[in-house]
Amino acid sequence: MDYFNYKRKVLFAEDTGIGALAEKYGTPLYVYSKRTFVEHYHKICAAFSDLDTLVCYSVKANSNGAILKEMRAQGSGFDIVSGGELFRVLEIGADPKKIVYAGVGKTSEEIKYALKSNILMFNIESVEELKAINRIAGAAGKKADVALRINPDVDALTHHYVNTGKKESKFGIDINFALGIYKSAKKMKNINIKGVDMHIGSQITTPIPYLNAVGKIAQFVSGLNREGIKIEYLNIGGGLGIIYNEEKPATAEVFAKAVKPYIAGFGLKIILEPGRFIIGNAGILVTKVIYNKKGRSKNFVIVDAGMNDLIRPALYGSFHKIIPENFKSAAKLSPCDVVGPICESADFLGKDRMLPELASGALLAVRSTGAYGMSMASNYNSRPRAAEVMVDGSKHRLIRERETYEDLVAKEKF
Ligand SMILES: *Cc1c(COP(=O)(O)O)cnc(C)c1O
Repeated sequence: MDYFNYKRKVLFAEDTGIGALAEKYGTPLYVYSKRTFVEHYHKICAAFSDLDTLVCYSVKANSNGAILKEMRAQGSGFDIVSGGELFRVLEIGADPKKIVYAGVGKTSEEIKYALKSNILMFNIESVEELKAINRIAGAAGKKADVALRINPDVDALTHHYVNTGKKESKFGIDINFALGIYKSAKKMKNINIKGVDMHIGSQITTPIPYLNAVGKIAQFVSGLNREGIKIEYLNIGGGLGIIYNEEKPATAEVFAKAVKPYIAGFGLKIILEPGRFIIGNAGILVTKVIYNKKGRSKNFVIVDAGMNDLIRPALYGSFHKIIPENFKSAAKLSPCDVVGPICESADFLGKDRMLPELASGALLAVRSTGAYGMSMASNYNSRPRAAEVMVDGSKHRLIRERETYEDLVAKEKF
């Protein structure tokens, strides 16, 4: 579901024409629909509204401050994975008591920073990290609030790069060792056990992996209770999938219905960490055709956005729909590869797409690029990163300026 639609064969974000935005801000350009991500946030809240639930938007999906600020205004908390993300959310005035911090490699500087900021809790991913947090908290004269991230050893049935809950994955603490580690955590002077955490992967489209994981986690929580280890929070992570092409992801409601029977009985506060589900369909990448090139076996449409702007096709083989901004002159469709200007064969946005004849200067929209689009963008090939615009009905505003050539060298010393 999103608010990018054709009106009289011209593409709009809500009530704002994409052509005018490209004209004003140039391309490549990320355009976000506020109504889309706000509605998705409330969908997931509504699905869990009968439990005491805190939704912590996963900052790494899209970390633009204007989007974070909107999320905060809606009531969202934040799931962070670095000191940089902590800085971002504090900058926009996030309530520290709505911040949870995961990640396998938290440095001592990052741990100190999070302790000083009084975040809700650390989601701890190893024994060494637990010891480090205990030690650093001790030195700071504090008690660290923590959950252990449990690796339940289930297959999330998704791309192997975003499958995070199998025993061979680097994430979380093996469910078979976790009880012993909770016991030793309980004895640590500067550790305050607050919860149990899991996050099994991303772009999960069926509730089955969740059920498998939550079932195991529920048993684990019962085990903790038997040991007299009290917790207050159960964090079941993010990972809800979205439609990129023909996927039929379960709705937030279906996910919620499936997992609630396992978790409701404990009377715990529930934390969710959705990223893609909230922001994925709420963004498009607008790009301009530079050249057409007819090959012997393929035709190429060469556009001004590349893998530095959107790396998902190159990194995961991801599919994003690509549609013309203006369908008025669409005569017949023919197959082509939509490729960027970067000097890598992996630099493509789409392969074998049926598109109308596109003159140089025509605009295309790469859909469902709100999540892991701009947040993964780089300056590869010394390309300044794109501008970002947020649309709200017929209003819009620039939320990140296009980078300049000067920005590219600003930190260099020569
Ligand atoms: C990336 C991540 C998420 C969000 O994943 P989505 O698939 O975008 O919902 C949630 N929790 C943790 C710990 C993550 O690393």
